Amino acid sequence: MAELNQAGAVGLVVKLPFATPEEFLAKYGGNITRGGIYLRAKAVRPPGTAVTLDLRLASGDRLLYTAAIVHFVTGQQGQGISGMGLKFGEADPPTRRFLDAAVAILPHAQSDVPPVPNGVGPPDFTVPAPAAAPALPPTVAADPGAPARMDAPAAAPAPALEMVTDASLGLNIEEPPRTGPVIGIDLGTTNSCAAFVRGNKPGVLPSREGHNTVPSILAFNQRGKLVVGHPAKGQMLTNPRQTVYGAKRLVGRPYASPIVGQIKGRFHYEIAAGQNGEAAVRLGDRIYSLQQISALILREVREVAQNQLGQPISRAVITVPAYYNDNQRHAVREAGKLAGLYVERILNEPTAAALAYGYGKKLNQRVLVYDLGGGTFDASVLELNDTVYEVISTGGDTFLGGIDFDNAIVEYLLQEFERQTGRAFQGDRVALQRINDAAERAKCALSERSEMRVHVAFITMIDNKPYDLDVTLTRQKLIALTEGLVDRTVQVCEEVLQAKGLKPQDIDEVILVGGQSRFPLVHEKITKFFGQPPSKGVHPDEAVALGAALLAHSLGQLEGVVLIDVLPMAIGVGLPGGRFKPVLERNVSLPAVKSYTLSTHRDGQTELELTVFQGDSERAQDNEYLGTLRLAGLPKKPRGAVQVTVTFEVNNESLLKVTAKEGTTGREVVSTFTTRDTPEAVKARLAQEESVAAAPVPPVVTPGNAVAAARRVAASVPVVPEAAPDAAVVSKQKGFMGWLKGLFGRA
Ligand code: AMP
Repeated sequence: MAELNQAGAVGLVVKLPFATPEEFLAKYGGNITRGGIYLRAKAVRPPGTAVTLDLRLASGDRLLYTAAIVHFVTGQQGQGISGMGLKFGEADPPTRRFLDAAVAILPHAQSDVPPVPNGVGPPDFTVPAPAAAPALPPTVAADPGAPARMDAPAAAPAPALEMVTDASLGLNIEEPPRTGPVIGIDLGTTNSCAAFVRGNKPGVLPSREGHNTVPSILAFNQRGKLVVGHPAKGQMLTNPRQTVYGAKRLVGRPYASPIVGQIKGRFHYEIAAGQNGEAAVRLGDRIYSLQQISALILREVREVAQNQLGQPISRAVITVPAYYNDNQRHAVREAGKLAGLYVERILNEPTAAALAYGYGKKLNQRVLVYDLGGGTFDASVLELNDTVYEVISTGGDTFLGGIDFDNAIVEYLLQEFERQTGRAFQGDRVALQRINDAAERAKCALSERSEMRVHVAFITMIDNKPYDLDVTLTRQKLIALTEGLVDRTVQVCEEVLQAKGLKPQDIDEVILVGGQSRFPLVHEKITKFFGQPPSKGVHPDEAVALGAALLAHSLGQLEGVVLIDVLPMAIGVGLPGGRFKPVLERNVSLPAVKSYTLSTHRDGQTELELTVFQGDSERAQDNEYLGTLRLAGLPKKPRGAVQVTVTFEVNNESLLKVTAKEGTTGREVVSTFTTRDTPEAVKARLAQEESVAAAPVPPVVTPGNAVAAARRVAASVPVVPEAAPDAAVVSKQKGFMGWLKGLFGRA
């Protein structure tokens, strides 16, 4: 094992009287947290001293090997016990794994700092270094003392983190070959699934073990080995901090985005900032990008497909939620590549479900796809005209899904526990996860039956007495607990219809997808609202993968299907004062294009800058930051003499391209999206600028009817934008704010 290289650190070897890590944790688990350890020692070093801690079992086997800093000392002022709290720094990987596994079973041990055990006296964080600190003996007797209590104040620098490379995970870095069959993949929040069309019939591809889906979960097992799918799911309860799930909700989002801020508390593993400020996952002292995590799941799905089809697979159609923004779609493409898959097409899930419903049936119908999955809900209206599938309206709630139903049940179970026992529930995170699991199982069972006993044995100890959780849940009670959630989905359906002036009776068929749509109350409320029961023609769990397979199949056909989508959320620019100005509006048919002409506002100006966001809020900071466009290399001329035409172009997969052309010479100006600025930096700068009144945006050019638009998609002819605003106005504006004002021309 590599030695920890910590300049000037004091070596500290501690030999423990225990044979196994379990014995150590059972006796002295209270003295260790994720972030540090308390050691009783006669000779201490002052706070701030760098130490290399080498903690060994009785056999001499290493238990912990880590850089550390003396965080506090005890017993140096004539009271308490002599000892030190060491805050961990960089640790070797086995140590990190041990600590992560330890904190998973020690509920008190979540702290980032060492504990202060009872009876050792007050911690001292400021003891000055003695003139000649007594040398630490090479081996000191450690007596970690009594069980710890928490809340030692924080200090000391964070440990150095290592970004995991694609190569070290065995991921593909080359462009995958575009040869061989194309499979469809539903990359789901909870489960992922591959499908393929054989003999004109689509079918999901089961694994050798007979599973139709691969859990979208990745974990390190107790031996530190990376596992994906079912084995990872199997250890979710026992090792939650090392088990990554729900990556789909985070991929392609900046760490500082409002959504990541809201959902990160819901995950048991640690979400950290990646290399470029994007959300990433921290496991031990290593940072994994969400592309890497998604790629490992996709690679597993790809392997299932290869085993089933008996040949290499390197091409796929991958589905994503309709509301995925540009960054997220790019991230999925990148994940596909890392998994060795050329992504032929990114397909929106509702469109995939509609394909599964209507493919080959020459339908002429307006359908609504109701998709209630594990974490999110979305509703989309599509018009099906033979082989043309046109989305006309879409909307949803990214915070409404099966998990909210589970949470409502857990809350009720805990109330019942308190009512029955007269004691407030005092379980740890593992106990809560067990209750959560039981709640979800009961919820699914109650889709079939009317009553279910929820029994979780030995769920907690209160005053040294063990307690079970034992509650009988009826479907009626479940309905009472979650009716508001189902009502909210119906409200979203209503809004999606209203956006296009439609009424429930204008919908010919409602297609239910997503596991949570199996809840009978969903069927009841949908039937009531639409005046007819939902379609029985699609399988709620398989429809999306089957639709992807059908599109994959159609790619090789002469008379393929034509898909027309809408932009799920507006794309626009940040304005001074922190406002957001849409350039391309939500629900505009795709492909869509819009151009503006800008002029320089300073003499000799060679660069222009544009911050691009996507979302439906009027405030830029509530939307997703897509990037900053810098147009460099403009010719040096007097202000107003250089004109640049900026074009926002969203293709039929909702991928954004921004190009810029310098007008005076007709030369193309290099334009690239960068994520060099953090979203905060951009937002702070915008907020600092003087607030100006919003200027009206020229109308967005939308394609005409479905068939005309379909032809355009097929032929990839961009829509020609309207004339740009008057460039002369632009040249009169001052600074960045003036330039942005100029962007909209009529401030
Ligand atoms: P999905 O993301 O589509 O796989 O949906 C997963 C969600 O569906 C989870 O919250 C599951 O608990 C939920 N779910 C799966 N089966 C059922 C069922 N039979 N009844 C109710 N909810 C279910």
